[in-house]
Parts: sequence; structure tokens; C-alpha cells
Amino acid sequence: MTEIVRSKAVLRDKVLAWKRAGEVVGVVPTMGALHEGHLSLVEAAQGCDRVIVTIFVNPKQFNNPSDLANYPRTEEDDARKLARFRVDVLYVPGPEEIYPDGFATSVSVSGLTDMLCGAHRPGHFDGVATVVTKLFTQTGADRAFFGEKDYQQLQVVRRLAADLDLGVEVVGCPTIREEDGLAMSSRNLLLSDRARVKAPALFTAMEAMAEGLRAGGDASDLRAEAERRLLANGFTEVDYLDLRATDGLRALERLEDGVPARLLAAAWLAGVRLIDNIAV
Ligand code: AMP
Repeated sequence: MTEIVRSKAVLRDKVLAWKRAGEVVGVVPTMGALHEGHLSLVEAAQGCDRVIVTIFVNPKQFNNPSDLANYPRTEEDDARKLARFRVDVLYVPGPEEIYPDGFATSVSVSGLTDMLCGAHRPGHFDGVATVVTKLFTQTGADRAFFGEKDYQQLQVVRRLAADLDLGVEVVGCPTIREEDGLAMSSRNLLLSDRARVKAPALFTAMEAMAEGLRAGGDASDLRAEAERRLLANGFTEVDYLDLRATDGLRALERLEDGVPARLLAAAWLAGVRLIDNIAV
């Protein structure tokens, strides 16, 4: 069984010993409720000499208290799922290890965080940037593995690692999906059986929109059509469904020659906010 460490002091001693031996340390930050998407990151990290998986449900990145309260917590199962990989430490800090009394610092990445999820979840990316900075410094990681599933987050983390000279190589890994196309997510556990059946409509609508874009269509027309389909399929609200340039996430109205683009979406189904993105 993987060793569980809850104290940053204990973690620091281990990491110092590894670093002294010249070992490359990889970290996979998560909020737990692990699924095959998370495990694909752990798999990608196997090339490092040492692998740390972190589980911390970060209160600062939740802008809604009931979302935080309802977030699935399954530590024992998580530890069991990790047993098939080489994981040196499962780091599960309590809140006081991350945010000690009097904690007053926030890391804020500007520009990238004003749009998409940043516009709909005030403070979310400051919470992400702050905790990721802390996890990078506490784990001393040389490489950190993040999913493209949270595409905007991946870009924010790349930006902050570069801007703050954190010395971490940020590795992006492809989105893992269920057989019906639904992107794996811990929040999928919150969907009722009825809602779970409807959830793949998000991916299907995005694929249809991508096809329309490739045929030369306008994003606004195709978005309106996709929204209609989603609302007819039981979704209650679409926060965004946007065509963006892969680099910097600038909004695009249609595909442009030589500009790699992505479709990014967030939509509500039965009280659960689902996000997804695909390359176009
Ligand atoms: P979370 O526990 O949701 O904060 O996610 C932890 C890490 O796992 C983040 O880097 C996510 O982007 C990544 N992740 C979550 N779901 C998936 C997925 N379906 N495929 C690949 N990576 C994922």
C-alpha cells in the first residue's frame, strides 16, 4: 500500500533525501475521488524517479459553499486505486498544512483567468493558482502532470510556473472519456442515473459544432444550435460554448488558417456543472 503522508514536514524530509540523490520528482495534484482520468496522469508520471500524488479538496477554489460540501471524498478507495502504480507518497494535507493561521497570500494570474470558467466562477483561478504554487513548493516537484480536461487550468498553471520560476515542467495529458464520450470527472459521481444518461449530450453537441466549424460555419450560429440541443436534452444552462485559439484562448468567430483552435464548454445538468473541451 502506498504510504500516506499528511504533514508537510514529513514530506519535506523525504523530498530532500530524494533530491540529494539526484532523483527526478513528479507530482500529480488532485482533489481525490480518483477515476481513470487521474490514473492516466499517474501513469504518465511513472517516468519520474519518484511520484507524489496529492489529494486536497481546496476550499479556496470553490466559489459555492454547497459545491464544496457536496464534493465527493473517497480517500480509502483512492489509495486502493493507486496500488497498481508506483506511487512513493500519497500526500493528503489537512487544511492547516496548506493554509496555516493568518494565511494572507494569493497568487493571481491575470488575463487568462478573466474569461470562460474565470468569468463564471469568481476567485476560482486565484484559488487554483495559490494551491498549485503551494503544492509545487511543498513537493519540490521537477515535473507536474495536469489533464487537458481542465484546459484553461492547464494554461493558467503553465503561466504561473513560468512567471514565478518555479522550476517545474508542466506536462499536459489528454482527456480520458467514458465509452459514451462523457469526459471522466469526479463530479460525474453527483449525477443521478437519469442525468448520467443525458450527460454525453455535451460531448455530442461539441462534436457536431466542431464539424460545422470545419465546414466553414460561424461559431455564433453553431453555438445557438448546440445550446438548443443541450436544453432540449435536459441541460438547464450553458455557461459557455466557445471557439478559442489554443494559445492564449483568444475568442474566434470561425476557424482561421494556421491557428490551432479548441472548443471549450461548461453547462449545467441536474444541478451539476460539467466542463469539457476538444481540439477542432
Ligand atoms: P481534479 O481532481 O478534478 O482537480 O483533477 C485533478 C487532475 O486530473 C487535473 O489535472 C485534471 O485536469 C485531471 N483530470 C480530471 N479529469 C480528467 C480526465 N477525464 N482526463 C484526464 N485528466 C483529467
